[in-house]
Amino acid sequence: MPESPTPESPRPESSLPDDGPHMSPEEFRRHGHAAIDWIADYWASLDDLPVLAQVAPGDVRRSLPDAPPEQAEDFDALLSDLDEIVVPGLTHWQHPRYFAYFPANSSPAAILGDLLSSGIGAQGMIWATSPAVTEVEQVVVDWLAQALGLPEQLRHAAPGPGGGVIQDTASTATFTALLAALHAASGGRVRDAGLGDTRWTVYGSSQAHSSLVKAAMMAGLGAESVRMVDVDPATQAMDVRSLERMLAEDIDDGCRPVFVQACVGTTSTGAVDDVQAIAEALDGVGAWLHVDAAWAGVAAVCPEHREHLTRGLHLAQSIVTNPHKWLLTTFDCSVLWVPDRGSLTGALSLTPEYLRNAASDSGEVVDYRDWHPQLGRRFRALKLWAVMRTYGLEGLREHVRQGVELARRVEELVEDDDRFELVTPRSLSLVVFRAVAGDDATMALMDGVNASGVAYLSHTRVEGRAAIRWAVGGWRTTAPDIDRTWAALTEVAERAG
Ligand SMILES: *Cc1c(COP(=O)(O)O)cnc(C)c1O
Repeated sequence: MPESPTPESPRPESSLPDDGPHMSPEEFRRHGHAAIDWIADYWASLDDLPVLAQVAPGDVRRSLPDAPPEQAEDFDALLSDLDEIVVPGLTHWQHPRYFAYFPANSSPAAILGDLLSSGIGAQGMIWATSPAVTEVEQVVVDWLAQALGLPEQLRHAAPGPGGGVIQDTASTATFTALLAALHAASGGRVRDAGLGDTRWTVYGSSQAHSSLVKAAMMAGLGAESVRMVDVDPATQAMDVRSLERMLAEDIDDGCRPVFVQACVGTTSTGAVDDVQAIAEALDGVGAWLHVDAAWAGVAAVCPEHREHLTRGLHLAQSIVTNPHKWLLTTFDCSVLWVPDRGSLTGALSLTPEYLRNAASDSGEVVDYRDWHPQLGRRFRALKLWAVMRTYGLEGLREHVRQGVELARRVEELVEDDDRFELVTPRSLSLVVFRAVAGDDATMALMDGVNASGVAYLSHTRVEGRAAIRWAVGGWRTTAPDIDRTWAALTEVAERAG
């Protein structure tokens, strides 16, 4: 580490303006407008850019100075580096032919909401540190619960102890739910005395997201505490009979089942577990039922998907969905709801003297620091509020329907071409398919399309065989983007013979 200058060392010549190191309000306005212009131009340019970054490891780092500037630079210099160095090193998630993983949709409204949140720069760790940050969030998560047709008991405005909270990601939400489950199952012992000798076990299907195992690792239960329940080979949904068998065996063995995760819309194929049947299997077991609807949950904004996506949710102890995937809310924004906040706040609340205040002591307010691992928190509700208000539920439904409609088009193209076959039924806006010629042909097809720069697809394995995931739902995707991607795909297939 370089030594800091001693008081005797001569002060370097400074280029700072008289009014200090900060942008003046006028400069801020000018650069702010330029930044918004940059974003609008970036979006407009995407169609002509390769979707997948075309750089080798180290390319971006080598293009940047290895020391920070001693003297102030103009903000315009940063914007020009974005164009020259950063953009070529980006995989363009807002590209109309980005079809890998799941969409992480940004949107104009969410960006403006996020910008305002940055400008306000408030810390909403407890109600008293900025009451509006907490109360706007309570209203917005209630609105979303209502928009998705979630059980009434999950709302702050309902008479009971339920409510929702915005977290960074579904991974954190699932981890938090597991901590609440341990608190509930141990009668509060875990927070004081730790996990003890109890052999806690956790359950999810073999298709559960990796964040479940990670949550068990972080909670100190260890990855081996997680039981992977078999799925029905045709639907890839959890085989509830297998769950029942595993629970009975573990209980016989002296284990204590603490947490069962049902998935509504698995990452691999979009499979939907039967939450109602899983809840019934837990009757008398006393385990916490968590529903991971990270990707698919927001589609319940459309009444035609609601029954399928929300059946049995009134029986769950926690539910998470990500507006930052399909629902146009610039990453990060993940909403966790609980019908009873007691276990959550019981597991996580601590009140050091410096945070004590009359409002918290009165019990009349929500202190969100007790609803997630960290203390400090941003005003994330602002971007979700901006999305819900400026799209309206009508606009959100139109967006979701567009994704489903375009995925139907993909499904038809696959079905009408005998070189390809669907691997599982289309789930909402996700189509999983393969080349009938086998795994090598399937992977070569995907790699060929991705290398062409036209589109970006990702893969999975289903019942041991390779499959391509075509995840529609991007906010800028239109029918010609589907057709252009299909043309690239069939061209690769033809070249391969
Ligand atoms: C994307 C996804 C997650 C993880 O989401 P993060 O918000 O990135 O943690 C978890 N579960 C499912 C089903 C997902 O699709």
